Amino acid sequence: MSEETIFSKIIRKEIPANIVYEDDQCLAFRDINPQAPTHILVIPKKNIPMLGDAAPEDKELLGHLLLTVKDIAKQVGLENGYRVVINTGSDGGQTVFHLHLHLLGDRQMQWPPG
Ligand code: AMP
Repeated sequence: MSEETIFSKIIRKEIPANIVYEDDQCLAFRDINPQAPTHILVIPKKNIPMLGDAAPEDKELLGHLLLTVKDIAKQVGLENGYRVVINTGSDGGQTVFHLHLHLLGDRQMQWPPG
């Protein structure tokens, strides 16, 4: 079984978070250390540590996460565009090992990312 992270506690509402969206499969909340004026994390309720751990049976869930990011971006008014990031593993800069999609917006993004 995967080890729990702080995100499991947020899912169970054991610690507070600024939640912007929830359904039976996922939860979205504002990042505690925002890297853009809008910075929201979308996480599956299922404990998948990182993208590399996703299995074929997670196909629908992964699609749901992406569609949810798109809907939230619209809901919070990111009509000029936004960036969606999945940091994966230590070289990918991942610090919390519960799969999450970063939704970043309300500023001009640069390329390449650091
Ligand atoms: P990553 O570095 O891709 O694993 O992203 C983890 C993100 O989780 C970082 O942007 C953190 O600021 C964010 N984070 C960590 N703890 C919390 C928390 N309790 N509430 C909201 N965001 C958090």
